[in-house]
Amino acid sequence: MVFEQFRESVRAAGRRFSSRGLSDDDKNALAEGLEFFSYTPKAGEDLVGIAARCVDIPYWCIASLNRIAHREDFEPKKALLLPTVRGVFVSADPRSGLERLLAAAREGAGGLRVTVTRERGPEDMRFFPGEDFSPAELAFFFDRGFQFPLRERRVTDSFGPRINPVTGKQGNHRGVDLAAPLGTPVYAARAGAVSEAGENAVYGKYVVLKHANGYRSLYGHLSRVDVKRGAEVPSGGVIGRVGSTGQSTGPHLHFELSKDGRLEDPERLLK
Ligand SMILES: [Zn+2]
Repeated sequence: MVFEQFRESVRAAGRRFSSRGLSDDDKNALAEGLEFFSYTPKAGEDLVGIAARCVDIPYWCIASLNRIAHREDFEPKKALLLPTVRGVFVSADPRSGLERLLAAAREGAGGLRVTVTRERGPEDMRFFPGEDFSPAELAFFFDRGFQFPLRERRVTDSFGPRINPVTGKQGNHRGVDLAAPLGTPVYAARAGAVSEAGENAVYGKYVVLKHANGYRSLYGHLSRVDVKRGAEVPSGGVIGRVGSTGQSTGPHLHFELSKDGRLEDPERLLK
């Protein structure tokens, strides 16, 4: 089993240094123990779960080596490299926001040059043995990149069980209601493509955006829709105006978020 052999190599590499403060010699010794194991995750596995099986190797270490910019960008079934020494890997050619952050924070800090061989060929990276992500880097890795769809934040009705204000029946609120004057601009909570722009009896005039990683956002009760089906909208782009169309008791935005078809509490994502 690859993990047993891998863990043995992690232990062997770790014996080369004492964990208290790393001198340059320690770092060089550590780098000598650096090996990469290839592992292809199974469906349903996630980076944090894989890292938990890697003894001393945290997920950020694996993410930086494999150039995974975000927890949700992780794709199972694609081969991962697992490093036998913990630390942060910085690409010589930063691509994502996270990689630019990692590179900027470690500019001029040296690091050990390593060549990482992947399917598409060798790549130069700098390796910082024993280092962690900073709080900002961690936040970047976990941030799901959603912004509030209105400039002002006034939640009048939360996600979950409630009495429907129009029908008076017990039900489940599929999103959050945000109070705002008629005509207030509504912003795309994240970059995406317009998958629906229409009107029905419940949502009135509404827009659905399809985002990366299986996310969808819905904006209901609009007075006006400013985008067409199929259009690409940047994060914060205006998609319409607040209204009271459909099943509504006054001007507000009904905002829903789902991932892979399951509704999520927007207030948890927009924190
Ligand atoms: Zn609502």
